Amino acid sequence: MFNEEALTIVKEKALEDHIPIIMDDTLDVIKNILEKENPKRILEIGTAVGYSASMFAKYAPNAIIDTIELNEERYNEAKINVQKIGVEDRINLYLGNAVEILPTLNFEYDIVFIDANKGKYPVFLQEGIRLIKSEGIIIADNVLYKGYVMSDYNKHKQRTAVRHLREYIKEAMENPILESEILEVGDGIAITKVHK
Ligand code: SAH
Ligand code: MG
Repeated sequence: MFNEEALTIVKEKALEDHIPIIMDDTLDVIKNILEKENPKRILEIGTAVGYSASMFAKYAPNAIIDTIELNEERYNEAKINVQKIGVEDRINLYLGNAVEILPTLNFEYDIVFIDANKGKYPVFLQEGIRLIKSEGIIIADNVLYKGYVMSDYNKHKQRTAVRHLREYIKEAMENPILESEILEVGDGIAITKVHK
């Protein structure tokens, strides 16, 4: 049984704790994709406390979701949350650095959702391409990073992230097997169809 009330509590607590969970308008776009694609297996990079993974479980009732989180405290909280929400049988939580865990995975995914450290987005895209089925969709959150990615001037602090996000967008637009669009919803999302 999917516990809507538990999900609402998880969302509210995450917002209170300043955890950057997926924004509502971004989720709406993904909801449409999930309902259309009816995915069987989804990969998420960046679990946080399991909010987006639980939403995906709700919108994709036939999907198994593999999700990776680096921070042990968040991973532990996610574990409790997915149980409370009642989706623990369809969500596999991995604790560790996705850069190290991804090369060990060998499932075939219908959807890949990238939502972790921006400096590794180009690496995540390459792993996503390896793991996705032909005609599968790779979705990356925060690709416009509060407008910094499209701005000429950026503070030192953001520069590395901006450089890697630009590299991600360039690859997504220019690699001939990828067909991408960037939407200015939320913090910016890239939606990429992979023709392998
Ligand atoms: N998808 C979540 C929000 C994720 S926030 C939601 O919408 O509910 C980004 C998360 O990625 C953080 O919890 C952070 O700890 C994690 N993260 C950052 N770098 C990572 C990495 N290399 N591997 C795995 N997780 C990472
Ligand atoms: Mg995000």
